[in-house]
Amino acid sequence: SAERVRQFGTTIFAEMSALAVQCGAVNLGQGFPDFAGPEWVKQAAAEAIAADANQYAPYIGVPRLREAIAATWQAHGWRSIDPQREVTVTSGATEALFGAVQALVNPGDEVILFEPFYDAYLPDVTMAGGIPRFVRLHPPTSGQSGWWFDLSELQAALSPRTRLLMLNTPHNPTGKVFRRDELEQIAELCQRYDVIVVSDEVYDQLVFAGAEHIPIATLPGMWERTLTINSLGKTFSLTGWKIGYAVGPAELNTALRAAHQWITFATATPLQYAAAAALEGALHNGYYDQFRAEYTARYHLLAEILESVGLPVLPTEGSYFLMADISATGFHDDVAFCRYLTQEVGVAAIPPSAFYARQHDLPLLARFCFAKRDETLRAAQQRLLAWR
Ligand code: PMP
Ligand code: GLN
Repeated sequence: SAERVRQFGTTIFAEMSALAVQCGAVNLGQGFPDFAGPEWVKQAAAEAIAADANQYAPYIGVPRLREAIAATWQAHGWRSIDPQREVTVTSGATEALFGAVQALVNPGDEVILFEPFYDAYLPDVTMAGGIPRFVRLHPPTSGQSGWWFDLSELQAALSPRTRLLMLNTPHNPTGKVFRRDELEQIAELCQRYDVIVVSDEVYDQLVFAGAEHIPIATLPGMWERTLTINSLGKTFSLTGWKIGYAVGPAELNTALRAAHQWITFATATPLQYAAAAALEGALHNGYYDQFRAEYTARYHLLAEILESVGLPVLPTEGSYFLMADISATGFHDDVAFCRYLTQEVGVAAIPPSAFYARQHDLPLLARFCFAKRDETLRAAQQRLLAWR
């Protein structure tokens, strides 16, 4: 195999889901819902297939979907965007992230990653020949209400060679939602060092009481240098559809499109029409409020279950993940704990160490996904109670 892939194992998600299946474990590991997406959205896909919208889509995405994305940005009060030049549809956020880094990073350019990071970011950077520079997100400590970063650490990671900063808010796996003052600090430094931001906001509709999702692209001076990446997978519980998109200034979209045309060229046509119907419908039918309310209930149920078996949870502000403190379990290693929990207890979780490049000074945590039906969470509860 080529050098660029030689170091790659299989992703932690594939590994833990396979182990969960093999052990018959309740899978609270890999992040995906075990319930169906909305009926009206599935119906729209069936209709698009029946209407023979089954040939290649325009490579930048079908116009109706790009217009629905623009309408969504407008409705959220974020920005008025040009669907022709400022939106590109991709095969999932995964393709948008890969394509953006391919399109913007030259070999030897430096890229800032907050660590822990969603696991795809590091291979995205190294496959482009970029050099990752890491900035730690620290778990909540006294005096800090949530995960936090040290501004001087970010400053120290930046240099004239820095090309890109990859941001993720709401953040996987910590559940952090970056506050306005934090985004302002990042924005100020990115402008000072002339750094482009790729901001992964796939959990933008999953924020809980007290937190507010703010796209960094809406901060002064940031639109020109930000590509915001999103996906229908989380928001409409359709992770298998792989409909993603990037929003940003024409210049950055032109670069992304140049890469995208050689990666997938275009994305599944009927699913793009259904995605358009999803975004259009959600603007008027109360979907987002109901979605958030249902997830808030799941969040509280899983938190209560984990706490009741001696796994204290860290506060999650957004995303569908909870981080639980495993230091009272006697394990000194999150991988060993998650293997044990999957194989012996019958509940699968993800070891957060998979989201760190540097393995020193890691907090002892396990990541649990609450995008699950009540009965799934209750089944996990039964097994956890039998263990503790
Ligand atoms: N970014 C983050 C932070 C994610 O959690 C995920 C999904 N797990 C993705 C990107 C990938 O999104 P998609 O399925 O649309 O490719
Ligand atoms: N994003 C999902 C998670 O964090 C997994 C996606 C994948 O399997 N690649 O669990």
